[in-house]
Amino acid sequence: MSEKKPLPLDISVKPKPSVCPVCGHSSYSRAGIHPQCVGVQVDKKHRTQQALEAKAAVNQDDGDAPSTPSPSSPTAESN
Ligand SMILES: [Zn+2]
Repeated sequence: MSEKKPLPLDISVKPKPSVCPVCGHSSYSRAGIHPQCVGVQVDKKHRTQQALEAKAAVNQDDGDAPSTPSPSSPTAESN
């Protein structure tokens, strides 16, 4: 029985985890950002875009607002 022992794996070099830009915690994912934080970031961007669009719409409507009569829906009870 003359088996050599396997060489030990070199675990001294650990990959440095990147810091998530959203929550600030270390992330071990390849992109360097937590998957749940990606959703938060996208949602934030979307909300910012919506806010800008709403503000632009308000500024456009400030000039003269076209009067759009709302169609009245008669509630006729037929039984
Ligand atoms: Zn995160």
